[in-house]
Amino acid sequence: MSRALSGLGVSPGIAIGEPVVHETRPISTLRITIPPEKVDAEIERFRHAVAATVDHIQENRDRASQQMGEEYAAIFEAHQLIASDPSFTGPVEKVIREQEVNAGWAIDQVLEKLIAKFEALPDEYLADRKLDVLDVATQILHALQGLHLGQLEQLDRPVILVADDLPPSAAVQLPLDKMLGFALEMGGPTSHTTIIARSLGIPVIVGARGSCEEAKRSRRIALDAFEGKIVFDPNPAELSEYKSRQREYHEQQATLLQMRHVPTVTRDGRSIQLLANIDLSNELGHAMDWNVAGVGLYRSEFLYMKMSPALPTEKDHIEVYREMVSKMAPHPVTIRTFDLGGRKLAREIIGEGSEANPVLGLRGIRLCFSKPDFFRAQLRALLLTAGEFPVGRLKIMFPLISGIEEVRVARLLVREISAELRAVGHEIPDGIPLGAMVEVPSSAIMARELAREVDFISIGTNDLIQYTLAVDRSNNLVADLYRPTNPAVLRLIAEVIAAGEAENTDVSMCGEMAADPLMVPVLVGLGLRSFSMNPQAVPVVRALIRQLSFREAGQIARQAAKFVTARDVEEYLLERLAFLLAKTKIQV
Ligand code: PEP
Ligand code: MG
Repeated sequence: MSRALSGLGVSPGIAIGEPVVHETRPISTLRITIPPEKVDAEIERFRHAVAATVDHIQENRDRASQQMGEEYAAIFEAHQLIASDPSFTGPVEKVIREQEVNAGWAIDQVLEKLIAKFEALPDEYLADRKLDVLDVATQILHALQGLHLGQLEQLDRPVILVADDLPPSAAVQLPLDKMLGFALEMGGPTSHTTIIARSLGIPVIVGARGSCEEAKRSRRIALDAFEGKIVFDPNPAELSEYKSRQREYHEQQATLLQMRHVPTVTRDGRSIQLLANIDLSNELGHAMDWNVAGVGLYRSEFLYMKMSPALPTEKDHIEVYREMVSKMAPHPVTIRTFDLGGRKLAREIIGEGSEANPVLGLRGIRLCFSKPDFFRAQLRALLLTAGEFPVGRLKIMFPLISGIEEVRVARLLVREISAELRAVGHEIPDGIPLGAMVEVPSSAIMARELAREVDFISIGTNDLIQYTLAVDRSNNLVADLYRPTNPAVLRLIAEVIAAGEAENTDVSMCGEMAADPLMVPVLVGLGLRSFSMNPQAVPVVRALIRQLSFREAGQIARQAAKFVTARDVEEYLLERLAFLLAKTKIQV
């Protein structure tokens, strides 16, 4: 008999396939008493998990030294030593034997004491080594549970990944070409894992609590991200229905692909620029398939996450940027300096879990400033790459600007580094475009002044909505409150677009709102001319814009501005969207 669970569909599509479960929450917090005669077997199970972990670390070590050089191997060697260190394994085995408990519980007990010792160390560097111990212990716990991410990396067949949580740092390590879909118990519509999946056309459902347990008992699942429904072991009738809907969707995508060369222009001749958001440089191919006019946002922090635990060198940066700018020529590529922090952790830079409120903490430009060595290395690479191309091909953008002084400091740094590079013979042209992201209400409120300080502005609605409405964008418990249609959000966006117009500064939007068919008519009506989005969204947005007239879009924007609740705005926009889509035969 089939069983079903509901969640929120956040990346469109239908997937049918074998589920593979990945749980990050350790089962170890459960204390299970082991009968005395099974204690030896439990110790054997623990030793097995340790051996598997050491082997897995060795594989990672080999890969890192091949890809990044032998100097990075040291990190993995240290992890191997921790995993097999008798001062860790000995006490765990002792707890299993003496207390007659499961290995997971024993690891937790030993870990707790070990971490406390590390935290008491006066040297910050040494205290931070607790992160390595935690990492290794987590890997052993996962090995005890069966499948861990390491095994997922070697998957040789397509699967649907069912997980309790999948942070972006883990998602980038997956063989994404084998992922038919994601069913996640946590996550939200604009969490970064969702954003990556959307760019790659991987259907995703978040907030489907209980999926891991159900999936463990299932041989096949159907994931319908349009309806937000997961069916476990679908019966033949359900299966054939999902297959036929999946076919229809693929046919629609193929039809849209054929239309990729039509210009993005409204019925009354206003032309609109569609750009791509890129997280991993291999997404560029998709963007080019859909005929975009450049890259409006390259999230450079994914380079850090992808290479973690190593850090990208100046050479790594340059290689990636140069390839992207050459491939996209003659179109521009906007590279955002690393926006780590918040949910996007690079432990090597900031340490993990050290902030009580990371989303309001050291992230974005604040982190860039607090780690000047990393920031300078990236800026040097950006300027050197920009120098290889005509001015304007590479644009530099700063994340999470919350005040004018941050822009000034960033500009000053660029000027300083340019001078240093010129002094040693590099040709760094003047006028490399520098832009600010408007993602914090304070910047939106000061948009007019901000527009005078920069060459361009990009509205990051994913964070702007989060900070304006005080709704965590990754928390599915408050996903209902995360509303792009909230009048306060619309008003801020209208002001930013108007400020850009008044100051003759280009304004683009690179948050997910730019790709939302419901919002496109209002945004066009507010005067936005540049939309940057995950490449998969381009064809639908293009088709929609071609149905619109700028005049009509202006009326929609004026009417939407009269409503005072998100629900009223939404109802009105849905009605307009249905009307527009009726002419296109597109399903969204
Ligand atoms: C945004 O906040 O809208 C944005 C584009 O940046 P990110 O999603 O990477 O935070
Ligand atoms: Mg952001």
